[in-house]
Amino acid sequence: MCPFQRGLGQRPKRVRVEKVDFLIIGGGIIGLNLALEARRRQPKASIMLLEKESVTGSHASGRNSGVLHAGFYYTADSLKARFSVEGNRLLTDYCLERGLSLNRCGKLVVAKDIADLPGLKELLRRGRANGVPLEEISAEDAREIEPRVRTFERALFSPTTATVSPSEVLASLSQDAIEKKVEVRLNTAYLGRKGEAVITSAGVVVPGYLINAAGLYADKIAKDFAFSKEHEILPFKGLYLKSDEPKGSLKTHIYPVPDLENPFLGVHYTLTASGEVKIGPTAIPAFWREHYGGLSGFNLKELVDIGSRELGLLIRNDFGFRSLAFRELAKYSRKKMVGQARELAAPAARKARWHWGEPGIRAQLIHLPSRRLEMDFYHEGDEKSFHLLNVVSPGFTCSMAFCRYVFDEIENKF
Ligand SMILES: Cc1cc2nc3c(=O)[nH]c(=O)nc-3n(C[C@H](O)[C@H](O)[C@H](O)COP(=O)(O)OP(=O)(O)OC[C@H]3O[C@@H](n4cnc5c(N)ncnc54)[C@H](O)[C@@H]3O)c2cc1C
Repeated sequence: MCPFQRGLGQRPKRVRVEKVDFLIIGGGIIGLNLALEARRRQPKASIMLLEKESVTGSHASGRNSGVLHAGFYYTADSLKARFSVEGNRLLTDYCLERGLSLNRCGKLVVAKDIADLPGLKELLRRGRANGVPLEEISAEDAREIEPRVRTFERALFSPTTATVSPSEVLASLSQDAIEKKVEVRLNTAYLGRKGEAVITSAGVVVPGYLINAAGLYADKIAKDFAFSKEHEILPFKGLYLKSDEPKGSLKTHIYPVPDLENPFLGVHYTLTASGEVKIGPTAIPAFWREHYGGLSGFNLKELVDIGSRELGLLIRNDFGFRSLAFRELAKYSRKKMVGQARELAAPAARKARWHWGEPGIRAQLIHLPSRRLEMDFYHEGDEKSFHLLNVVSPGFTCSMAFCRYVFDEIENKF
């Protein structure tokens, strides 16, 4: 029975049934770019986008670092590598064309000690393989770029890393979608599926083709279509600390050499599009999907499912989850986070005050049979529907290029 018809003894309400050529679920950066790409390819098609919140970009797309990554973290065979360079260029051009904020501050990757030098070399090798502009420089040259930086002997400088304002980009894309006659339905949730019909909180839609870009809920929706059988989303919370030091007190992003075995980049300094300084994000296991803080977004079923999954990972220490979880949980301490950031750069001349910023949650996919985190973007689909399941960082950077690829896949394979 369809969810609006529940309630014994009540006469079923008349339910609106609409037909559309494309139905896109999720109004994040991916859903919006998919809608715009659908319009580019099919000027006459009817396109509907469902977003359960009142504003587009309410989850990962509006709660991230806003960094346009250059593309040197990822192995050359990955989708992340394939779309970072092009995605960075497309979003940079978009911001320039529309007059949106863009901070072309570049990025330094620094070494803590001698043990980090092979990691720097590996990033350089990956960068070259991916066609990314990247320079290996001395510690002295790094201090020319950013006088406060701390590094052991060498560093990498990435000139094409930049920052945008995610909220400005999302607002602009939403406006584009509306102007291009995409039916953007806010406050409208996908609830389930009955045969060809999709049940939403505002009626029934029968799509010609459905694309699921629902971020933290993409695996749940994919399962309704008999996909994502071997995968589940494991949410990881990213906390940020914002500094009150004056804009421009750091000149570039500063990142450590990450552990390349997991998809997180370690606590780093980020400059916002307007030059403010932030540190973060953490990668703390969350207990439910929209677990931003306290009991926000509380969902008992998710707590049980995700909590028991995490307990199993903790006990078996799959992919080093135990040490990752304890290391990350310690970052609830402001002192600990600031202390870690100090390994990357000396404190500002005037002592900075730090306050917590808005957290974001990564919709990180885990492959259940191997109990490993998926490192790359991941998708499944057929001639009726397509499901985007691991659009984690650098998904924002890649979005425009990646969404073109998604349509190529749909057109060529189905
Ligand atoms: C802390 C953090 C930092 C990051 N930093 C960067 C960065 O610096 N650079 C970068 O390139 N990437 C970064 N990322 C990754 C980037 O934010 C994501 O790759 C990108 O935002 C994913 O977009 P999306 O549209 O797939 O997901 P989302 O933005 O999460 O959008 C999914 C949408 O689907 C909606 N939805 C869910 N369920 C339903 C339903 N049932 N019905 C209707 N709507 C539904 C949600 O409300 C949501 O708006 C970061 C991510 C996080 C969490």
